[in-house]
Amino acid sequence: MATTFHSTRSTTDSLTAKQAIRKGIADDGGLFVSDSLGQTKVDIADLAGKTYQEIASDVLGALLPDFTAEELAQCIADAYGSQWSDERITPLKPLGEDYILELFNGPTSAFKDVALQILPRFMAHTTPSDGDPNEKIMILTATSGDTGKAALAGFADAPGTAITVFYPESKVSQVQELQMTTQIGANVNVAAVEGNFDDAQSAVKRIFGDKILAERLAKDSHVVLSSANSINVGRLVPQVVYYFSAYAQLLADQVINVGDEVEFVVPTGNFGDILAGYYAKLLGLPVKHLVVASDKNNVLFDFLTTGTYNRQRPFFQTISPSMDILISSNLERMLYYFSEGDTRLIAMLMNDLNKWGTYEIPEELLAKIRQLFGCGWANEDQVREMIADCWNKNHYVIDPHTACAYFVAQQMPRDPLTPRVILSTASPYKFPRVVNEALGFDATGTDFECMDVLARETGTTAPAALRGLEHAKVRFNTVVPIDGMERFVANAAEAL
Ligand SMILES: *Cc1c(COP(=O)(O)O)cnc(C)c1O
Repeated sequence: MATTFHSTRSTTDSLTAKQAIRKGIADDGGLFVSDSLGQTKVDIADLAGKTYQEIASDVLGALLPDFTAEELAQCIADAYGSQWSDERITPLKPLGEDYILELFNGPTSAFKDVALQILPRFMAHTTPSDGDPNEKIMILTATSGDTGKAALAGFADAPGTAITVFYPESKVSQVQELQMTTQIGANVNVAAVEGNFDDAQSAVKRIFGDKILAERLAKDSHVVLSSANSINVGRLVPQVVYYFSAYAQLLADQVINVGDEVEFVVPTGNFGDILAGYYAKLLGLPVKHLVVASDKNNVLFDFLTTGTYNRQRPFFQTISPSMDILISSNLERMLYYFSEGDTRLIAMLMNDLNKWGTYEIPEELLAKIRQLFGCGWANEDQVREMIADCWNKNHYVIDPHTACAYFVAQQMPRDPLTPRVILSTASPYKFPRVVNEALGFDATGTDFECMDVLARETGTTAPAALRGLEHAKVRFNTVVPIDGMERFVANAAEAL
């Protein structure tokens, strides 16, 4: 049976994987899902000893069957090559009685590189649906920090694409801002926005929904807008690979035998990372539990304990900014699969969320979800304590996002028979000031001085791309008001 994709909110669409990747989000606002997910399993018996790239070709082959093996091989080779500082791509390391899966060895030192290094390569193999052979995709993204840079790095000079990134002025770290404003590439545009992340994100959503602008961009500039957010299938599926890679490394290290179950603890914001773990389970990976670790914005914790999702709550800007999220978009896909494809239920829940800011799922559905998904959260004091605790116990430095998961793992009862893998989503050098404060090191200087202190005190090395930002040339210094974002996008499209 051919794999086709439709919206989580209706079954009327029927798109190939390539079309779904190019389009990003369904017309009714739902996310693309495939009902054949899990029909093709990935063979786990011969995982041990396979390279990341070999595992990627097995997993992506099962998830994106309309890409040829040659196309996938090319995408994988280009995306997971020498731009990674570890040849295992996502190395697994022992951490006390647990394991840590490092997802941050890519070019921007955050886990989003895993997906955003390959998404532009996928897109290069898609073709315009309505026949304009000159059509270019412009990626439009609002970022609270990490996504913007990872998307810029992935799409810079990628054929047939351009990218525009907005970030909230003065609301990202010095390192994060420089990562974006120094980005090279002829097809990239970056602007700071006078407002917070939610303002920028809402404006981007409005721009996506503006039919008149869309027509003008298509007609005058051959440009269609698309999203690099984790709602895109092409961003989600590459993340399935590292769950298999973790399992392969546990097998190779003889921690487990084929078929043994493993537990994953995942720092969670938009629910993309952890959802990929669920996809891995559907593809045959023996996953016992997936544990959602949140920061102080604990909307998912409340949902998974009560069955009520309620975004009507204060928003906290924390020291783990990439998890500061009140609407976890990818949760919609999980609900779709757990409700056995009940598009009417999903449409109703999402309508409630839009209208009332809240929804409630049936009790039996919650019970089913809770058999697989655990949850916990850490406040900022606990995050700081855990950064220190992990360093003191293991001589391993973790960033504030990973520290949320580390905290949740410490709180859980340990099952001695089930290895536990904590996913590490960012290099501590992206947040050197907070990390130094937590570890009691000098944190009074610039971010770069903080990096040097962290390196000296811990005997670790800052990623060269981060340390080098101090003297990199700033290319972008535009600040736009919220209502100037649309014009900025139109100008960028015209200049292509
Ligand atoms: C994006 C991000 C997360 C959250 O991942 P989701 O897929 O949105 O749940 C966690 N940590 C870091 C460092 C991130 O950049």
